[in-house]
Amino acid sequence: MSGPALLWLGRDLRLADNPALIRATAGRRPVLALYVLDETIRPPGRGQRWWLRQSLAALEKSLSAHGIPLVLDKGDPARVLPKIAEEIGAEIVAWNRRPEAPESDARVEKALQGREVFIGSGALLTEPGQIRTGTGGAYQVFGPFWRACRASDPARPQRIPDDLAGVRQAPRGTALDALFPKDFEPAGDWRPGEEHAREQLSNFLDEGMSDYPTARDIPSVAGTSLASPRLASGEVSPRQIWQATLARMAHGKQGSEAGEVFLRELGWREFSYGILADHPDMATRPLREAFERFPWRKSKAEFDAWRAGQTGYPLIDASMRALKTEGWLHNRMRMVVASFLVKHLLLPWQDGEQWFWDVLVDADPANNPANWQWVAGCGMDAAPYFRIFNPMLQGKRFDPGGDYVRAWVPELAQLPEKHIHAPWEAPADVLRRAGVELGKTYPMPIVEHAGARQRALAALATIRQQPSPSHS
Ligand SMILES: Cc1cc2nc3c(=O)[nH]c(=O)nc-3n(C[C@H](O)[C@H](O)[C@H](O)COP(=O)(O)OP(=O)(O)OC[C@H]3O[C@@H](n4cnc5c(N)ncnc54)[C@H](O)[C@@H]3O)c2cc1C
Repeated sequence: MSGPALLWLGRDLRLADNPALIRATAGRRPVLALYVLDETIRPPGRGQRWWLRQSLAALEKSLSAHGIPLVLDKGDPARVLPKIAEEIGAEIVAWNRRPEAPESDARVEKALQGREVFIGSGALLTEPGQIRTGTGGAYQVFGPFWRACRASDPARPQRIPDDLAGVRQAPRGTALDALFPKDFEPAGDWRPGEEHAREQLSNFLDEGMSDYPTARDIPSVAGTSLASPRLASGEVSPRQIWQATLARMAHGKQGSEAGEVFLRELGWREFSYGILADHPDMATRPLREAFERFPWRKSKAEFDAWRAGQTGYPLIDASMRALKTEGWLHNRMRMVVASFLVKHLLLPWQDGEQWFWDVLVDADPANNPANWQWVAGCGMDAAPYFRIFNPMLQGKRFDPGGDYVRAWVPELAQLPEKHIHAPWEAPADVLRRAGVELGKTYPMPIVEHAGARQRALAALATIRQQPSPSHS
């Protein structure tokens, strides 16, 4: 048997399809697994911390079933890894590339000079730089990117190696409680861990996927895969989802069309990571430079009302309450509430991005900023800024019976369907019968829709008048 290997886990909290685990264990090396809360990069928010805490506990169990100890630590991985590698006499240190932290990865590699290092790839479908335009640049538009990605034939996922073994003695690390204190508990039936991720995926593929193209737009039904927190923590790899989806699609035509719609969404994730590679500061800096001069307003009161779900727009409030309670929000509702913040309230998209980052259990360093910039009109292949979601029409279209609003805004539950998305338009006797007193039991709209729309368009015009070269 060869000497020990140090396996560094980050956002790949799984045993299956884990190239670093496969490499670490090759030659039946005894393995020590290490998780480091990297303090040199953006710290995880409350939602993510909750998820990671549960997911690490599950991972510790499955590793220990193979005799592999898991040590937890925090700090700068470029300091922690060499120290632990030394302590266990590691002959190889293996991890999977973190596309969101290339600089930190490079520093760790440098700090380990003299020791064998293996860096695998497991976070994305394709290698960085693999999908490029004919002239070698990054795609700026999703359509052609997706066609290239769809044709790229991602690698097959790899199985858990046989004969895993652990080192006999593990160094002392940090306790899970100290790493991720219990400061947030999302409601809902969340079950972190690789095993549940696998279950959830096959349930979705067997039962949910055929309805996905239509059900995915309705917030009151569970019509999507809920794969996002599992992808964010790496309990499942995109290659596993990709191959499992293709396998189901091979069964029939209907499944095949729905599968294409689903795979395309994974393509958006891939596209976001492509943007992040070229724009590591995309959580704070608009990709379109003209937006640096956008006349954003400042209003703590309005931002707080948005966060708390107290804007007086039922669909916005239902969504923001769902987000804060469950640590997750339906994709369409993410778009609607993000648009409301940046367009109706003219508040900076970066503040919204930070709030999402703080509460989402699936907070993702590429998807979150890329989507915020997309909604704000300053991102890659973005929705034009002048396209302003109307929260009442969105409600009528995607929550026609008002079920979603009634579930999250109980003070409006008795309102008839006709008025559920615009209570301020309801006659006084209708409000009275529903027990709604606007301004008392439920707020009046924080801003008037038509006026807000005009204000947003006028703000946009101020940056349009200036030359706006986009920096790439
Ligand atoms: C303002 C805003 C912020 C967002 N923040 C995040 C975030 O922090 N983390 C995150 O994972 N997603 C984010 N999204 C994208 C999307 O809303 C979620 O991925 C999706 O709702 C997760 O649910 P699901 O896994 O059931 O999705 P499904 O519909 O089942 O999709 C499957 C997978 O495809 C990917 N995907 C789907 N939609 C998108 C998209 N628009 N962009 C990129 N990838 C996508 C995700 O990995 C998702 O898990 C954001 C969207 C918006 C509009």
